[in-house]
Amino acid sequence: MNTHPMVKAQGVHKSFGAAHILKGIDLEVAPREVFCLIGPSGSGKSTFLRCINHLEQINAGRLYVDGELVGYRQKGDKLYELKAGEVALKRRDIGMVFQRFNLFPHMTAIENVMEAPVQVKGEAKAVARARAERLLDRVGLAGKAKNYPSQLSGGQQQRVAIARALAMEPKLMLFDEPTSALDPELVGDVLDVMRGLAEDGMTMIVVTHEMGFAREVGDALVFMDDGVVVESGHPRDVLTNPQHDRTKSFLSKVL
Ligand code: ADP
Ligand code: MG
Repeated sequence: MNTHPMVKAQGVHKSFGAAHILKGIDLEVAPREVFCLIGPSGSGKSTFLRCINHLEQINAGRLYVDGELVGYRQKGDKLYELKAGEVALKRRDIGMVFQRFNLFPHMTAIENVMEAPVQVKGEAKAVARARAERLLDRVGLAGKAKNYPSQLSGGQQQRVAIARALAMEPKLMLFDEPTSALDPELVGDVLDVMRGLAEDGMTMIVVTHEMGFAREVGDALVFMDDGVVVESGHPRDVLTNPQHDRTKSFLSKVL
């Protein structure tokens, strides 16, 4: 039985040069939880996701994914930075979906979904193709397997991007404003796919401005501002009864 959190941050700090961006983040994400992260632009949400996904190295504190330190190996009291190959292995377990879909433009939808299992894991193409077909079906795009990204709407491209992340069978999915770049009428289909993933028990951290999604699907919600966690709790409680002025002010702008 898995008893440790899927993600645990203890006093996480991150600076870029003199710019202190994350100023001591403490939080825990339980397995199978949908953990929503909200906050103003520039508050450090993307930076935090990038630290979890080994794209940035933290400067102080401890960050764990599935019980293991991110970026370091601990021996006694000492920390050793992981080598590139070790980082690459750990990153396989984390799926990330960005605001911009970042599909490979010269590959069809199904080729995009097959790419990482074949290239990174060395999986047989037939196996990768069968899984990619299942995943495209799951995101409602079974009929678009042979389309190139340019032949798909933004919402369809984002659903391919989700399928592509799922193809590596991650234990954790990170979503960084996955619907912010979409025309409003395309947002619902993407959120429905995410809702389905949540129902299947995927552990997800979702940075979003979709408060309806956070309220209906989220198990936990954190409001971040200026590199600190200002307030956290059950989404219904935080959204309907925020305790801090900064949370109230932010919510009055987005709700
Ligand atoms: P959010 O996702 O909440 O909008 P970000 O994490 O993207 O916030 O950015 C937080 C702050 O960190 C911003 O001021 C941004 O300019 C700065 N920042 C992010 N990445 C870098 C970087 N690689 N180098 C320097 N500054 C950065
Ligand atoms: Mg961001």
